[in-house]
Amino acid sequence: MRETPDRAAPRPDRGNRRPSRRSPRRRKAVPSQPLQPPAPPMRLAPRTLRAGIAAGALAVTVLWALRAEPSARLDALFASGAHLSGLLAGYGILTMLFLMARVPAVEHGVGADRLARWHAFGGRYVLSLCAGHAVLALCGYAAHTGADLLTAVSDLLGYAGIAAALAGTVLLAAVGVTSARAVRARLPHETWRAVHFLTYLGAALAFAHQLVGPSIASSAVSVWLWSMAHATVAVLVIWYRVVVPVRQALRHSLRVVSVRHESPDVVSVVMQGIGLSQLQAEPGQFFRWRFLQRRIWHTALPFSLSAPVRDDTLRITVKAVGNHTRRIRRLRTGTRVLAAGPFGAMTAHRRTRRKVLLLAGGVGITPMRVLYETLPAGPGELTLLYRAHNAAQLVLRDELEEIAHRRQAALHYLLGPSDSSFDPLAPQALRNLIPDLADHDVFLCGPPGMAAAATASLAKAGVPADRIHSEQFTY
Ligand SMILES: Cc1cc2nc3c(=O)[nH]c(=O)nc-3n(C[C@H](O)[C@H](O)[C@H](O)COP(=O)(O)OP(=O)(O)OC[C@H]3O[C@@H](n4cnc5c(N)ncnc54)[C@H](O)[C@@H]3O)c2cc1C
Repeated sequence: MRETPDRAAPRPDRGNRRPSRRSPRRRKAVPSQPLQPPAPPMRLAPRTLRAGIAAGALAVTVLWALRAEPSARLDALFASGAHLSGLLAGYGILTMLFLMARVPAVEHGVGADRLARWHAFGGRYVLSLCAGHAVLALCGYAAHTGADLLTAVSDLLGYAGIAAALAGTVLLAAVGVTSARAVRARLPHETWRAVHFLTYLGAALAFAHQLVGPSIASSAVSVWLWSMAHATVAVLVIWYRVVVPVRQALRHSLRVVSVRHESPDVVSVVMQGIGLSQLQAEPGQFFRWRFLQRRIWHTALPFSLSAPVRDDTLRITVKAVGNHTRRIRRLRTGTRVLAAGPFGAMTAHRRTRRKVLLLAGGVGITPMRVLYETLPAGPGELTLLYRAHNAAQLVLRDELEEIAHRRQAALHYLLGPSDSSFDPLAPQALRNLIPDLADHDVFLCGPPGMAAAATASLAKAGVPADRIHSEQFTY
C-alpha cells in the first residue's frame, strides 16, 4: 500500500524548538557560534585506511624477512613460521584497537558500522594467527629439543614471557567467543562490553611477550618502532575514548529539557547545552548518549540526531525495543546527559549526484529526517521513501510533510506488512515511484532485513553499489 501525504499548509518546524521557560536553569550567555568558522572535519576514506592497514602488514612481513635465517631444518621452519604469525598477530591486535579508538577522521570517513564490521572480521584472523603462532612455536620447540608435546608445553610455560602470552591469548579467545553471533545474542550488552574490555589486558600481555621475542628484541630499532606504534594507539584510545568525552561533558553541560511522545513506543528527547555548534555534528550523524538517571546511567546508547543542531539544542528520537530504551521514555527534565560524538559517515559528503533518494525503514527515519531538511537540493531533486508497517507507526510525520511542502520535495509512505504479497521495495515498484532512480544517490537506514532487501532491489534497479550509502543500527 502506498500513501502520499496531503500538501498541508506549512506548519512551524517542531524540530528543536528552544524551550525557554522549561529550561532547567539559566545559562551563561555563551555565543553558540565560534568566532572563526570551524575547519571542515578531516575524513579518511575507507580505501585509504584499507591500504594503510595492508601496508602495515607488509612492513611487518619485511621486518620478519630481514631477521629470518634461511634453513631447511624442521625446527627452524616451525620457528620461522611462529615468528611471522606472532608478529602479524601482534600487528593485528594493534590494528583492531586502532579501528575502535574512535578517531574522528576515521569515524567520519569510514563509518562506525563499517569499522565494527572490519573489527569483527579482522578479530577472527587475529585469533587464528595467535593460535597458529602457539602451535608452531610448540612444534618448533619439540622438534628442537626432541621432547614430546606435553613436556614441551610444561617447559615453555616455565618462561614468564610465554606464560603471559598464553594468559593474553586466553583473554582474547574469551572476547572472541562472547562476540560470536550466537553467544552475543544471548548476553546483555553490558556483559559483552565488560568482557571486551579484557582486550586491553590481553593486548598488553601480548606486547610484553613480543618485546622479548627474537623478531623484535634482536634490534634496538625494531624495539623502538614496535613500542612507538603501541604507544601511539594507546594514546589515541585514551584520548578519544576517555579524555574527549569527559572534556565535552564539562564544556557543553547537556541536560534533558523535554521528552515528547511521538507514538506509543517512540519518544523524542530534546537536550540543551552550551556551545553545541562547536561539536560540528553533521546531519546523518549519531552520538553515544549516557543519561545520568537511576537504572540507565551505566550504559551509553547510540542514537542518531533526529533534528539539526539548533539554538544549542540536540534532539534524538528513540524507539523502545529493550530495557534501556524503555527507560528513556521516563527521563526527567533536567537530567544530566553525557554525549560522546559525533560519529558516523552517512553525511552529505558521500553525495555524488544532484538527485538524492532517502530510504528509511521504521526508526531509521531519524537520520533521514535531518538529511531531508538539510541536504542542498532544488525542487524535485529530493525524495524520501518511508517504509513502515502501518500509518500508526509513522513518526515525525508533521515535520516531514512540512519539509516536503517547503522544499518541494517528494515524500511517499510505503505501508504494509513485510510479508505482504506486494513488496513496495521491489525494483519495479521503486522505478514506478522514481523513474530516473539510476541517476540518484541513495541514503538508506532501516532494520537489517529491510536494508538488505532494499540494497538488493536498488542494485537490480540500476543504482551502482558505490552510490548506496547506508548505516546499520545494529553492530
Ligand atoms: C549508529 C546507530 C544509530 C542508532 N540510532 C537510533 C535512533 O536514532 N533511534 C533509535 O530508536 N534507535 C537507534 N539505534 C538503535 C539503538 O541504539 C538500540 O535500539 C538500543 O541501543 C537498544 O537498547 P536496549 O538496551 O533498549 O535494547 P536491547 O534489547 O538490550 O538491545 C537491542 C539491540 O541493541 C544493541 N545494543 C544495546 N545496547 C547497546 C549499546 N550500548 N551500544 C550499541 N548497541 C547496543 C544490542 O546488542 C541489541 O542488538 C541506533 C543504533 C546505532 C548503532
